[in-house]
Amino acid sequence: MKSVVWFATGSQHLYGAVTLKKVAENSAAIVKGFNESEKISVEIVFKPVVTTPDSILEVCKAANNDDTCIGLITWMHTFSPAKMWIAGLKALQKPYLHLDTQFNRDIPWAEIDMDFMNLNQSAHGDREFGFINSRMRKNRKVVVGHWKEAGVQEQIDVWCRTAIGWKESQGLKVARFGDNMREVAVTEGDKVEAQMVFGWQISAFGTHDLIKYIDQVTDAEVEQLYAEYEQTYEVAADCRKGGKYHQNVLIQARYEIAMKRFMINGNFKAFTTNFENLAGLDQLPGLASQRLMAAGYGFGAEGDWKQAAMLRILKVMSEGKNGGNSFMEDYTYHFDPANPGVLGSHMLEICPSIAARKPRLEVHPLGIGGKDAPARLVFDSATGDAMNVTVIDMGNRFRIIVNTLDVIEPLAALPKLPVACAFWKAHPSLADGAAAWIYAGGTHHSVFTMALTPDYIENFAELADVEFVIIDKNTELTAFKKELKWNDLYYLLNKSLK
Ligand code: MN
Repeated sequence: MKSVVWFATGSQHLYGAVTLKKVAENSAAIVKGFNESEKISVEIVFKPVVTTPDSILEVCKAANNDDTCIGLITWMHTFSPAKMWIAGLKALQKPYLHLDTQFNRDIPWAEIDMDFMNLNQSAHGDREFGFINSRMRKNRKVVVGHWKEAGVQEQIDVWCRTAIGWKESQGLKVARFGDNMREVAVTEGDKVEAQMVFGWQISAFGTHDLIKYIDQVTDAEVEQLYAEYEQTYEVAADCRKGGKYHQNVLIQARYEIAMKRFMINGNFKAFTTNFENLAGLDQLPGLASQRLMAAGYGFGAEGDWKQAAMLRILKVMSEGKNGGNSFMEDYTYHFDPANPGVLGSHMLEICPSIAARKPRLEVHPLGIGGKDAPARLVFDSATGDAMNVTVIDMGNRFRIIVNTLDVIEPLAALPKLPVACAFWKAHPSLADGAAAWIYAGGTHHSVFTMALTPDYIENFAELADVEFVIIDKNTELTAFKKELKWNDLYYLLNKSLK
């Protein structure tokens, strides 16, 4: 379904028809400018200027009821007395961005007169609107600057993409093949609360539900998909026809087809597996999970539905942007004081969207779980800016944690490690970054992204009204620990503030 953002300009009747006509013209010109800009990837729809409590309520209710509308941009070109906005903002269920801009960039020093002053009032009109939002404890994004400025348009695009992610979050269906890994704490959580807060519908299935689909896949379909593997990857000799592991690859192809069909039939957009719950399956779905991630599905290992849902949302937010997104795990430290870093990987399931080069398709024993040797794609990640994102359940609220990273080439070849991996320098340093993550209770699992920046996640957390903490170059451990304690207190009280 098409997604659009509505542009609603606030004013009042005090100014008279001539001024209001100009307000509408200027707003329409801004909308046109946004739609012509390559920086904004979502269509912006101009809405008639609102000047009364009724018209404000009406546009807010219409936004709620329009499935294509993912959010609103509001702007007060003139002064719009904000008591008029109370009913509308109370009703509004869509995300909104408050744009504090002005039609003209510069003050026209020589020409400025009282007519100009009556028309161009956003510097104070947007403060009136800001007050009522703060008074109502409304989470909203505030962007300030001239509307033609690249940085302003980029912030609008980040917010629009977050709104697309928020829409995806509502009703996002996650299929769990098996339950949580036994005794693991952090992958657990309150799924009822997750549905209320994020909209996620999380359903568990036994492997027999999947096996029904696996049994229906034909040999011809498997052969056809295998041919695609040979086109797409560098296939190891022992995985090719006649090789001792060829059958193991075909089994993963069968899983991939079956899982995809299962997901399409049930409208699932994310899934989890668990190597403790593989009854009736010969292998842990490795290659199959990697390929499904690359096709846009969210994935979480060991029953981790929170990261599975977040990965799907990040993939939707970053559609069309450079850089991939993958399920990830902090695997092993490199504590060399001269060059510390973290090797991120998983048993198998890293998404090839982050690969630096053409992945290699290989089969190796897993050494855990007691199943057949699974096929998987092996590659090193691309290098550059990245971040790890995770969602945890703190009991009385969800916390989203971000750690920014520099991904670099592994310091040496890893000839005996047959999995995909990424090697990174966490901010502000390995020691303080990891300590902050651990103090915050961050999972060993995360969503690794090279496509998005922390502002997307901050916006998303505000839309969900959940806690957001960031560990980046500016993080100072003592202050960070205090922030966690203050947040604990805030989330005890915040419900009574509203
Ligand atoms: Mn794991």
